[in-house]
Amino acid sequence: MKAFNKNPSGLLAALFAVIIVFLGATLYEQGIISDEFYLKLLSAVQGNVTETSELEVHFIDVDQAECILIKTPEKTVLIDAGDIGYERKIENYLRTNGVFAIDLFIATHPHADHIGSASGLLKKFPVSEVIIPEIPEEFLPTTSLFEEFLLTLSFKNCKVSYAEIGKTFDLGNGISIEILGPAGYSGDNLNNYSVISKLTFGETSFLFTGDAEEEAELLLIDSGADISCTVLNAGHHGSSTSNCELFLKAASPEYAAISCGYNNDYGHPHKEVLSAFKDFGIDYYRTDFDGSIVFYSDGKNIKVSAKK
Ligand SMILES: [Zn+2]
Repeated sequence: MKAFNKNPSGLLAALFAVIIVFLGATLYEQGIISDEFYLKLLSAVQGNVTETSELEVHFIDVDQAECILIKTPEKTVLIDAGDIGYERKIENYLRTNGVFAIDLFIATHPHADHIGSASGLLKKFPVSEVIIPEIPEEFLPTTSLFEEFLLTLSFKNCKVSYAEIGKTFDLGNGISIEILGPAGYSGDNLNNYSVISKLTFGETSFLFTGDAEEEAELLLIDSGADISCTVLNAGHHGSSTSNCELFLKAASPEYAAISCGYNNDYGHPHKEVLSAFKDFGIDYYRTDFDGSIVFYSDGKNIKVSAKK
């Protein structure tokens, strides 16, 4: 009550913003207002509902799948969208964290554990831009899930582009994300088409590799990309088919985050990878034990928050 008496206009403005956001979300979900209008509405009130002053990277606990939220004071990026049936969980997580619109959605590759809930989320949130990997037609999946994803994209009022090496997105506040890969893979393993991106803020950086396996990791090194990073999104849920020694050496992260489900069928993360992380002095976290993992960066230092 004290705060209310001290600054009643600030509190009223915040309350008004929250009412507008929820009213807007309802109208948007019912198709009464367009993506564009909802986005404008959100950007008009965002200052009142978002208090982040630093970069946040959330490895959301979605069991044996992946979903990463990047939040800057100005923009929101989502990398992958968990498996089928996780729309509600991810939606709740995003809304609880003050996310009402997504500026950039990166679908690393078209496997169910990465795009499973993408269509559902794309229907619930306004999205400005979507990046997908370019995969030769003969290797494109014919699953109903992938077809639904493409159909949702075609109805969505957003820009859809193939991952283009070197393309950089300005996320405001000196934070940017650059596309580094896939770097020249042309075989039939969809994992190796994973979009690889690097997020940079000051002296800190994060490398996201989806399910890229050793062959793609080596192609990335050969491409000359700067893959050094502070935090590595462990490749392919910590599988030993990814995270090869040369790659870990070149990336030389301080931390790694592993998206994996408790007691999963694949045995992820593999023991060899965990022991390599230890040998390289990489402090790792895993969603099966630690729940959702959040890294905070002020451009110099990294803080980690993980709880279950
Ligand atoms: Zn996966």
